[in-house]
Amino acid sequence: SGSASTAVIPDTVHSNHRSRLLVSRLFQPSNLREGKDLGLECRPGEMTCRSQKLMLQGGLIQPSNPGCFYYLPAAVRALEKLDRHGAQFCLGPTHEEAVTELVASQGTLSYRQLPLLLYQVTRKFRDEPKPRFGLLRGREFYMKDMYSFDTSEEAAHQTYKAVCQAYDRLFRRLGLPYVMVQADTGNIGGKLSHEFQLPADIGEDRLVICGNCNFSANLETIEPGRADCPRCQSATLTESKGIEVGHTFYLGTKYSHVFNATYYNAQNKPVVAEMGCFGLGVTRILAAAIEVLSSDDAIRWPGLLAPFQVCVLPPKKGSKTEDLGALAEELCDDLGASLKSLKGEVVLDDRTQLTIGKRLKDAQRLGYPYVVVVGQSAKEEQPKFEVLCQHTGDTMFLSKEGLMDLL
Ligand code: ATP
Ligand code: MG
Ligand code: MG
Ligand code: MG
Repeated sequence: SGSASTAVIPDTVHSNHRSRLLVSRLFQPSNLREGKDLGLECRPGEMTCRSQKLMLQGGLIQPSNPGCFYYLPAAVRALEKLDRHGAQFCLGPTHEEAVTELVASQGTLSYRQLPLLLYQVTRKFRDEPKPRFGLLRGREFYMKDMYSFDTSEEAAHQTYKAVCQAYDRLFRRLGLPYVMVQADTGNIGGKLSHEFQLPADIGEDRLVICGNCNFSANLETIEPGRADCPRCQSATLTESKGIEVGHTFYLGTKYSHVFNATYYNAQNKPVVAEMGCFGLGVTRILAAAIEVLSSDDAIRWPGLLAPFQVCVLPPKKGSKTEDLGALAEELCDDLGASLKSLKGEVVLDDRTQLTIGKRLKDAQRLGYPYVVVVGQSAKEEQPKFEVLCQHTGDTMFLSKEGLMDLL
């Protein structure tokens, strides 16, 4: 039995005869006979009430854990009749329609309000036929999606360019080399589209890149089997695989036309707005970054994303250097307090029943950018800390000041 209230919905009420409902086929363990004990009766002195008794006896509910009940089929039928409108809801896979409708519902905008850019970072739901590779392809994921409204095709192209430049800065700051490829507009529609792809063997998109003119495209946008570049015709197309982490579209008036998202131009005439939409797969970027940067047994984070920047390892309990524990704690507190960028970013691995070696291995696996070991060398007159920099693989022995400088 489950610990939460559970609804039991059998489809056995119907017999061979599709429309005839039969009590014998209904799962309704009723307990109407007086004196029958199925363990459903309340214990002496237990609080009960008429409805509880009747529902237990009538086979509407059955207790599982304290405060939790099975809702049996008859109860489910009654519940379904309560407050149901019979309407269907859709979990949003993306929000072009919703946002265009929202903007249109404000009435005609003024050209002075444009460009209007609306974004959100929310969960998206897609009935992916093959969810796989963890967060790379889930049925529920986070996306940053933005929708732009402009006065003209030219202005929309300016916006498009500005967003692509922002995406470029984002991936640069994360230290993730990407390829921007010409892409299919697919179901979203529109006139112009690019994908931001992280090269990776497990990538599900096939990309072609020209060694001569740098033309790059998702293979699905050009004829398969073609070896010459569609732009410069040289025979230097190479194929590789990528993980799609971002996608930009110039939509034209496809959605604004349907929903009547309009603005008044300088001549006070209503004009349909030019739109773009821009998506970044937030959870996919996290997984893809780990995928492309890490080795098989150790995570390497983009520096900006590491959950903690520094891990301090105090000595093992009962070891010769045990008394350095206090120094390690002090170092941990000081780093967080004196360096603004490290506030809340320094973690102490206080599992001192484990050896330093074991904890160091864990720290490497988790990929803290910096691991600081407080061991033998911290006992010297000028205490030195062993600092492992995951990014370069270097190990250094630094004084506290040296460590501060490094961080
Ligand atoms: P894919 O080709 O991988 O199925 P898509 O082209 O269907 O992705 P878009 O509609 O362009 O995806 O959505 C914008 C972004 O959302 C994608 O570039 C990707 O980063 C992310 N994304 C899409 N589907 C998923 C998913 N199932 N799980 C995680 N992220 C996703
Ligand atoms: Mg898809
Ligand atoms: Mg795609
Ligand atoms: Mg896409």
